[in-house]
Amino acid sequence: MPIQIKTLEQLKTMRRAGLLVGQTLDLLRDSVKIGMRTDALDIIAASNIKRGGGTSNFNGYHGFRGTICVSINDEIVHGIPGSKVIEDGDVVSIDCGAIIDGWHGDAAISIGLGKVDPADQKLMDVCEESMWRGIAAGTNGSNLSNIGHAIEDYVKSQGKYGILQEYGGHGIGTEMHMEPHVLNFGKRGFGPIIEVGMALAIEPMITRGTHKTKILDDEWTVVSTDKSHGAHFEHSYAILPDGKPFVLTAIDGGREKLASLGVEVSDLLS
Ligand code: MG
Ligand code: MG
Repeated sequence: MPIQIKTLEQLKTMRRAGLLVGQTLDLLRDSVKIGMRTDALDIIAASNIKRGGGTSNFNGYHGFRGTICVSINDEIVHGIPGSKVIEDGDVVSIDCGAIIDGWHGDAAISIGLGKVDPADQKLMDVCEESMWRGIAAGTNGSNLSNIGHAIEDYVKSQGKYGILQEYGGHGIGTEMHMEPHVLNFGKRGFGPIIEVGMALAIEPMITRGTHKTKILDDEWTVVSTDKSHGAHFEHSYAILPDGKPFVLTAIDGGREKLASLGVEVSDLLS
């Protein structure tokens, strides 16, 4: 399958979906509290997506039950919302997606609750920064593998972290998961050239220990095999017709963060 190329009009719709995802994650960040069940967060996400005119792309995805994924501590991604209660010091990773008029948005954040272990805070900070470095490396005309290289390069410069190998970023558009798969590691200069009209979800997943994972008996939750804590950040971005990127799921389009990395964001969706 070739990589889907979007028109400016289609990217405008993707921005609406992405903004709804970004706003929903902001609401969840403000809402999450110690003592809360993870399914309470799911209800907040579902009602906000509905209020914003979207539908969930996660709910029913290969049988997944939930509007968001909530993954705590050694759970890294794909945790199912349920009766689990959030505790002091937890690392809570929330992955959220939405569809508007057939176009998808997908983003994720990790949040530390209460008395967070400084090493866990650094884990989250490194993961988030690596995501931005990946986006900044994935500009118009770059090889796709430059993204994973930038992510790995930054993560390794910060300490001994495990970068998940079996999971990565992806193309996004009329479906949540499309070509190409985006590795979170690798060498520069390989893979397809990133072009105007492409949209990619960039999502590093790292742990304080091993990169090795297993899936729990619920058939979804991905945990580290050494029980080390994990973090997950994700944004969906696109290359606009002016050749500049725009982060569809960031409230400011990624303008502030990408400027600090020397990348100018497009004005075409503002
Ligand atoms: Mg996601
Ligand atoms: Mg994704």
